[in-house]
Amino acid sequence: MAKVTSRGAARKAAYLMDCAKTYYPEPITLVSGDGAYVTDDEGRRYLDFFAGIAVLVAGHNHPKVKAAVHDQVDKLVHTSTLYLNEPMLDFAEKLSELSPPGLDKVFIGNSGTEANELAAVLARHFTKHSEFIALAHAYHGRSAWTVGITGLSAWRNFGGEPSKIAFAPNAYCYRCPLHLTYPSCEIACARAIEDVITTETSGQVAGYFAETIQGVGGIITPPPEYYGIVKEILDRHGILFIADEVQTAWGRLGKNLFGISDWGVTPDIVTSAKGLANGLPISIVIARREIADAYAGPHINTFGGNPLSSRAASATLEVIEEEHLAANADGVGAHLMARLRALAEKHPIVGDVRGRGLMLGVELVADRTTKEPAGAAAERVLNACKEQGLLIGRGGLFSSTLRIQPPLIITKAQADEAARILDAALALADREFARA
Ligand code: PMP
Repeated sequence: MAKVTSRGAARKAAYLMDCAKTYYPEPITLVSGDGAYVTDDEGRRYLDFFAGIAVLVAGHNHPKVKAAVHDQVDKLVHTSTLYLNEPMLDFAEKLSELSPPGLDKVFIGNSGTEANELAAVLARHFTKHSEFIALAHAYHGRSAWTVGITGLSAWRNFGGEPSKIAFAPNAYCYRCPLHLTYPSCEIACARAIEDVITTETSGQVAGYFAETIQGVGGIITPPPEYYGIVKEILDRHGILFIADEVQTAWGRLGKNLFGISDWGVTPDIVTSAKGLANGLPISIVIARREIADAYAGPHINTFGGNPLSSRAASATLEVIEEEHLAANADGVGAHLMARLRALAEKHPIVGDVRGRGLMLGVELVADRTTKEPAGAAAERVLNACKEQGLLIGRGGLFSSTLRIQPPLIITKAQADEAARILDAALALADREFARA
């Protein structure tokens, strides 16, 4: 077991299950947050460029969200989905208005996992089919079925996964699963969906699940043509397109409220969670009316549509609009991306930089020619950044991609500060891990 010196780490070891992994050999216990900063129980302040796990779109402790929650706490905190409450109805109406055209019926739950489970239920009932297609390197949740559509071996660890799921290659241009190069590949990974349908399924496919950009899988960002080609194939086969927007919605990608709109396609079902209520638990499934209506239930969710999360979500949507958070993600994201690209020039440990808006990834490799993944270097960088007051995340099949998913309120000065800390951390990783 790792050496435990902090009080939080000692209490975790005593009372919390070991399966819940924390970042850092010495996990940090956070006590307060303010905008893009968090403070730990020893008074250390960190620039938070992971925002929980890509959650706090409006920043920690946003006054408008906080005021909405405070107000609601004094009125009503729980109803369950057996009763209506006004915050639930207000939020559902607002969301329906803001969603891609045609997607207008919503179910409100608590987590991304639940949302994906329900999306699959809707797809099964609507199509009367039961098979699904998912992507290599996907992450869709921690229930038995969502683990089944997760394409990362480390997270396929429940024992006995459900069957009837076919995996298609993902659009991972840096390590193309088909050994091709964009754009001369003509997006063969998207066209491969057709082969997957005809060779790996019975043809009775209910839905295709994709994270718009794979987050846990390492910020795998499909080229602009990808989803258009996929959607055309799915439509021809009567397969529903389910966009898992758990990480990519709410302006994070810098253009639209829903990231998938950047690819110019409208999915049949969208799931989301994470940033929607700026830190309170919430998830949504939003679908075309006829798809939603195909499942008559009964369905229930004790904490679904709860008044606190619904108020927080409506307030967050207002903040995203009023403070132009998508535009900020675009502008500051482009600035940060330029800084990261400059770091890639300078540091041999960096193999690739990718992403959109404020969902950015830096993949580390021990050798740029062989692209040998450098997971240990990523861990070193994460720890070195923390020591210098910067929190970032990590992902990818080999845990070798740094994930930068800050609150969407960050300034260019904060992006510069993060780049400065990363620069120093990458220099350490160069010395210790880079061979070329
Ligand atoms: N889908 C995606 C794309 C995710 O990133 C996650 C969480 N990391 C989930 C689903 C599951 O969400 P939750 O942890 O809220 O169940």
